[in-house]
Amino acid sequence: MSAPEQVVTRFAPSPTGTLHVGNIRTALLNWLFALRHGGRFMLRMDDTDAERSTGAFADSIVADLDWLGMRPEAMVRQSDRDALYEAAFERLRAAGRVYPAYETAQELDLKRKVLASRRLPPIYDRAALALTDEDRARLEADGVRPHWRFRLDHDAQIMWDDLVRGPQSLDPALLSDPVIRRADGSWLYMMPSAVDDIDMGVTHVVRGEDHVTNTGMQVQIFSALGAVPPAFAHVALLTGDEGKLSKRLGSLGCDAFREAGIEPAAVAALLARIGTSLPVEPIADPAVLAETLDFGRFGRAPARFDFDELAAVNARIVHQLPFVAVADRLPAGMDAAAWNAVCGNLTTVADAGAWWTVISGEIAVVAEGDRGFLAAAAETAEGIDWGADPWHALTAALKAATGVKGRALFHPLRLALTGQDSGPDMAALLPMIGRERAVARLQAAADG
Ligand code: GLU
Repeated sequence: MSAPEQVVTRFAPSPTGTLHVGNIRTALLNWLFALRHGGRFMLRMDDTDAERSTGAFADSIVADLDWLGMRPEAMVRQSDRDALYEAAFERLRAAGRVYPAYETAQELDLKRKVLASRRLPPIYDRAALALTDEDRARLEADGVRPHWRFRLDHDAQIMWDDLVRGPQSLDPALLSDPVIRRADGSWLYMMPSAVDDIDMGVTHVVRGEDHVTNTGMQVQIFSALGAVPPAFAHVALLTGDEGKLSKRLGSLGCDAFREAGIEPAAVAALLARIGTSLPVEPIADPAVLAETLDFGRFGRAPARFDFDELAAVNARIVHQLPFVAVADRLPAGMDAAAWNAVCGNLTTVADAGAWWTVISGEIAVVAEGDRGFLAAAAETAEGIDWGADPWHALTAALKAATGVKGRALFHPLRLALTGQDSGPDMAALLPMIGRERAVARLQAAADG
C-alpha cells in the first residue's frame, strides 16, 4: 500500500478504439496531476468487454501515450484481475449489496417505455428484490441465468466534494441499481473500476463529467467494500467548433496529430489549458503545465477544441525546439546552424525540409524586377568576401553600385536566392546557401 499522502492517479481507457482527443485530455490531466504532486500515474486497461476490446487497440493506446510522453509507472489489465473482482463480488453479496435479477433486455426495455409513457424517469423498479427463493428456483430451473445488480442504499444522500464541480449531492433513489455482472459471469465497468481504484491505491480520479452518475454509484460501492472513496475531479467535456464536429472530435487522435505535424508538447500545452481560466500558452515543459494545473480553475461549460488553435500553439512550440529534439527528424545533413536559422519560420518540423532544400538543394528561382539589377547582383556576389557576413557585404556593395535600396534591394534578392517571398533572416541563410549556389541562382534569375 502506498503512503496516504502519495498521490496516485490512473488513466483507464477501454481498448475498444484508439484514443481520441477527449481521452488524451483525461490522460494528460491525470499525468500532470501526479507530476505536480510527485505521485504515481498508472494505466489501466478497462477491457472487461471482451467482445469489443482488442489487443491491437490496447497496443495503440500504449504507443500513443508513449508518443505523447505520458509514461505510466505501471499498467494493469482488468482481464487479468478476475479473482479480485470475484472476491469483491462475494463480499458485497454476503453483505446483501448485490442481488440476482432475471429480466431480459426486452422486459427491461418495456419497463422503461411504460415509465416514459407516464413521464416517469427510467429507474429500475427492483422487481427482482421481491422474488422469493421459490420464484428464483423456478426461473433457474427454466434455464434463466441471472445478471447481478448492486443494491444502492436509498437511506443516505450520496455526496462528495468534486475538485472541479464543488459539492455534489445525488439522491440514490433516483438511480437504478447498476448491473455489475452479466448473466454469463462477465463484469460490467462499474464494480471492477472501484475495486481496482481501491487495490491500486488511487487517491484522485480525474475523468469526464459524463461519469458523474457512475461516481455516485461507485461512492456507495467504495463504502460497501469498506474503503474511503478517492477524490474526484470531473472535467467538462470537449466540443468542436460546432456541434456537428463532436463526431469528428471522437475520431481525432494521435494519428491525425502526427499527420498534421503536431508535436506532442503542443497537444499537452493546449489540452492542459482549454476550458480553464488560464490562457493557452506554448509551454513546452510539462513541469510548468503541471505546476499551474488547478482544478479550481476549470470551468463548468464545455471546453472548445479548435484544430487551428492547436496548429497555432504547435508553430510556437516548434520555434522553441532545440536541435537535439528534432535532429532525427531532419533531412540528412541538416545541422544545428541550419535548424536554428529556419526554426522560427516553421509551422511544423517537417517544413524544415523545404528550407533545407533552399539551403542545399535545387530550387525554382523567382525573378522579380530589373534583370540588369539581378545581373549586377550575380556579379557582386562573385566578388564579395564570403568569409564573414556575405549578406551584408552583398547588399552594401550592390547598393553602392546601383543606388537601389530598401525593399527594392532586398526583396528581389530574397526571391532569387530562396524562391520564396518571405522566410528566415537572409543574413543567416546566405552563408549556408554558399557562394556557388547563390551566384548561380542570381544568374538564373537574371537570365530568366
Ligand atoms: N473505461 C472508462 C472509460 O473509458 C473509465 C472511466 C474511469 O475513469 O473510471 O470511460
